[in-house]
Amino acid sequence: MTPRAGSTMTGSIEGLERFDSPGKGRGLRVTRPFKVGELLFSCPAFSHVLSVKERGCYCEFCFTRTQHLARCGKCKKAFYCNVKCQKGDWAMHKLECSAMVAFGENWCPSELSRLVARILAKKKMQKERCICEKMLLIGEMQSHTEDEDNEKREMTEADIAGLHRFYSKHLDVPDHKELLTLFSQVACNGFTIEDDELSHLGTAVYPDMALINHSCLPSVIVTFKGTSAEVRAVQDMKPGDEVLISYIDLLYPTDDRNNRLRESYYFICDCQECKSQSKDKAKLKVRKQRDSIEPDVINNMVRYARKAIREFREFKHTKTPSELLEMCEQSLEEMGAVFDDSNVYMLHMMYQAMGICMYMQDLDGAIRYGEKLLKPYSHLYPPYSLNVSSVYLKLGRLYLGLERQSACTSALKKAMAIMEVAHGKDHFYIEELRKMIAQK
Ligand SMILES: [Zn+2]
Ligand SMILES: [Zn+2]
Ligand SMILES: [Zn+2]
Repeated sequence: MTPRAGSTMTGSIEGLERFDSPGKGRGLRVTRPFKVGELLFSCPAFSHVLSVKERGCYCEFCFTRTQHLARCGKCKKAFYCNVKCQKGDWAMHKLECSAMVAFGENWCPSELSRLVARILAKKKMQKERCICEKMLLIGEMQSHTEDEDNEKREMTEADIAGLHRFYSKHLDVPDHKELLTLFSQVACNGFTIEDDELSHLGTAVYPDMALINHSCLPSVIVTFKGTSAEVRAVQDMKPGDEVLISYIDLLYPTDDRNNRLRESYYFICDCQECKSQSKDKAKLKVRKQRDSIEPDVINNMVRYARKAIREFREFKHTKTPSELLEMCEQSLEEMGAVFDDSNVYMLHMMYQAMGICMYMQDLDGAIRYGEKLLKPYSHLYPPYSLNVSSVYLKLGRLYLGLERQSACTSALKKAMAIMEVAHGKDHFYIEELRKMIAQK
């Protein structure tokens, strides 16, 4: 189904319209000017799911973070702000509540399976009431089942098996073909809900957001308020400008970005940055030495770096923190012979090392790595990047832990300057930051 140019989105949001974006299929553009930091629109999740590891920290229904959550009396696994949230969530939670009791330790569906189960239940609920426009949009979301490689297919089959195993008692599971399409749609169109430090909280689908195409120079940024997504301009926009978000981490050079886009989203980007590759040289910066380094040596080190990143990812959930830190340090030493400290592959490993140090409560170690990230990060990411604000935030909190007041205030203020644009000045993250800064 192709959208008519100028047709409205669901609920027709003022200042925005769907259109046929050249070479990209459907897209979304603005019909009036928007200034940096201005909200284009917000939309509630069609379906959302809280990560298992965040249970007890956040309300399953509204994603509020508080220490006073009440537990579901039956499964003792789901937590809520109050009875209202618990009731609100029951239509979804009942898919899991008794199954979690029955399976006990063996209850282990993937987050994707959990989300798909909720989408199926929601679709059924809405079908009983009316054919709502959001559902049509879900049906319209692009799928790429025919493009998937074997590894991806195997993963989807495992997800589908999980759906049958853990949900079939409370859900009419559709046939295999329909499931393949739905899993592919959700894999391409699902959003990761993250907190202010970019920790993964859960996954959700936003039908309206599926219209937004990718650029490595995005015009907007998506943040979350509870389970709702909010879209704000990070560039001044004039009528006719396309609304563009980034689907991927923009730290990496053009080849890496496009490999990632091809693997996960089945397209190659042709934005201005992908054409000019203007930041690639800085991103791949090599050490200053008296003798210049041979191109072969650099290429080999890039290969080494990509392999090190892949290996780290593979071992992330099986090795101990000290073993992982060792991996980071070893690869940093190896790469450091050729790469500058601001090279993105160095930064990647430093970022990982910072996370491990924080996990191990090694505040000094985390600060040491974090401080090295800031300058290159600010330079290599586009303006108002959450990747930059989250590092300032982490550092601010680490300084606070060591009672380094002025360093703390300065870092938090830098985080706030970005977040006021990305999250909006009235977001509770900003309120929290203001309080933290005022306390001293
Ligand atoms: Zn709640
Ligand atoms: Zn329960
Ligand atoms: Zn691009």
